[in-house]
Amino acid sequence: PTIIEMQHIRKVYIMGTQQVEALKDINIQVKKGEYVAFMGPSGSGKSTLMNIIGCLDTPTSGRYFLNQKDVSQMNEDELAEVRNKEIGFVFQTFNLLPRMNALDNVALPLIYAGYKKSERIARAMQALENVGLADRAHHKPNELSGGQRQRVAIARALVNNPSILLADEPTGNLDSKTSYEIMELFNQIHAQGNTIIMVTHEDDIASYAERIVRLRDGLIESDLPNPQKVRLP
Ligand code: ADP
Ligand code: ADP
Repeated sequence: PTIIEMQHIRKVYIMGTQQVEALKDINIQVKKGEYVAFMGPSGSGKSTLMNIIGCLDTPTSGRYFLNQKDVSQMNEDELAEVRNKEIGFVFQTFNLLPRMNALDNVALPLIYAGYKKSERIARAMQALENVGLADRAHHKPNELSGGQRQRVAIARALVNNPSILLADEPTGNLDSKTSYEIMELFNQIHAQGNTIIMVTHEDDIASYAERIVRLRDGLIESDLPNPQKVRLP
């Protein structure tokens, strides 16, 4: 099944008298279980496209179907609901809450989803276990390494079983060894059937994806399978 279908997506930012056409005409389909990397130079429209895919923003024109549902015309409340249900976000800067321990950070999305406390703890613990961090459940972010913080963020992103894991420069703040460990974890998550969409400007990180889409000046310059995909040993 198709998870993402974009038709003629255009995004124009208006700043005073200036208009910036960040996306000109984006057409793309992503199927359930695909692992896609978006690349492209700074200013090519990656963040803008990620914001639209993640339902943080809507296109100026064009249609975006997420799981068959047209989300391109939704209002802020409808978008928030779709976002909470369908998208798990991972950022370069981890974005964990500093006063909460790892377990509570991971459990947070389950509050909005309406689970009762015992269920939240059990699910969050399982999610931490899945990323190899059960023994760090009661540590706060500042007591964890960068790689561990990103694992917590990944557990939080996946705890609600979203349709898409959306990762914006997930290794941007990590050294290379830790970056490859995070990419091995992404390989496992992908092998479990999850759909992953990642933005990176590093070729060796993109090489973990099975499909590489390059943006330039708000257009898709190329969209190719990745024969070099780095597979699990
Ligand atoms: P990156 O290239 O790492 O994706 P950017 O500098 O393009 O980072 O964007 C960082 C954030 O700032 C994004 O959320 C983007 O929407 C916003 N942004 C980028 N350019 C502008 C701009 N000219 N005016 C306002 N916000 C911008
Ligand atoms: P990338 O992530 O590839 O660096 P962006 O999507 O951030 O690209 O930016 C694409 C273009 O849109 C750039 O010219 C950028 O300056 C502009 N832009 C991005 N976000 C905003 C914004 N919030 N307001 C105005 N211009 C923006």
